[in-house]
Amino acid sequence: MRAETLRLLLPSLAGAILITPTEVLPALQKLTTPRPLALPPALLGSVVPTDLDSLRPAGGVTGRGSRDGWRGVHVVVSVDWEGSGFDDEDLAAFRRFRDDFPDVPLTHFLNAAYFTRLAPEDVVGAVCASDKIRSVLRDGDEIGLHVHSDNHLVYAAGVTPKKFPSWNYLPDMTGHSVPLSAFSEEEVRQIVAFSCRTLEQQGFGRPKSFRAGGWHAGTSVFNALAAEGFTVDSSEVPYESIPGTFGQLQELWPDATRVSQPYYLESGLVEVPDNGCLADYVTADQMVDNFKEVVRAGIGKPAVLSLGFHQETAAKFLPRLRSALIEIELRAAMQRIPIRYDVVKDVALTLCKSR
Ligand SMILES: [Zn+2]
Repeated sequence: MRAETLRLLLPSLAGAILITPTEVLPALQKLTTPRPLALPPALLGSVVPTDLDSLRPAGGVTGRGSRDGWRGVHVVVSVDWEGSGFDDEDLAAFRRFRDDFPDVPLTHFLNAAYFTRLAPEDVVGAVCASDKIRSVLRDGDEIGLHVHSDNHLVYAAGVTPKKFPSWNYLPDMTGHSVPLSAFSEEEVRQIVAFSCRTLEQQGFGRPKSFRAGGWHAGTSVFNALAAEGFTVDSSEVPYESIPGTFGQLQELWPDATRVSQPYYLESGLVEVPDNGCLADYVTADQMVDNFKEVVRAGIGKPAVLSLGFHQETAAKFLPRLRSALIEIELRAAMQRIPIRYDVVKDVALTLCKSR
């Protein structure tokens, strides 16, 4: 790689740009200017971080696409929509994030439960829910599916709701913490098919990517998803990222780590692990550490870092993600590690093909 011509992909600078080393600092200043959060104190006053110095791919960095051998970190940012409800504060925080990070496409794991919690004849309520969801969607986003086993959703799908087992180890009268994996394959298929129909009726299109509530997916869930035309699952999560014990996570994902990369499941789906977990469970520093670990583990290969948050807790936890993305972009720029933001469906097949 010629030192005077580094092609770095700085997503917040509207795509790939050519910069030289002397342009790095102005570029970084430009990168951070429109974003309201201060730089993380640990980064202020530091020179180029040295712990990533040895991690640049041999042969240098290019800005070409991964199909052409592009080597870098694909950062996937996803949103789990719990189906529980909407709070103005969360939606406002969500919209501010979209305004401040316009080049970060999101994968929305949407939930049909926003509509089944309404009375069937409540058309106004359904339109209102759709409008609130649409207020934070942007061009380039992906609509996926998220399912919790809430009674009203399961019942509407023609399946008998369960109160137990739950990942809280207590009977759950709402069903929200009952793992989808506790239902039979046929029952899961009914719930998934109903959820897809509901989202389609509301104009969101048919999802192809999936994340199970509480990351509880297993063989019956994967088979049901494949039968319903899904191509990607993103339910794998490293159980070490979740404090304490959490249902069957360790049994369902025994090999999950913070650097797990996309792979094919036996059902034929591509698994895109949620290796960086969601902001409710990990701090900004842990997200940045996760980035460093993914870079370290994936040297010479394209790699995925999955981060995200919940719509229902956006006001509380989005600040963690905002801080983490700013620091990740800065570190990547200073270390000449190319990063780019992608949605789940786009990284799935691309990365599987490259391995
Ligand atoms: Zn969830």
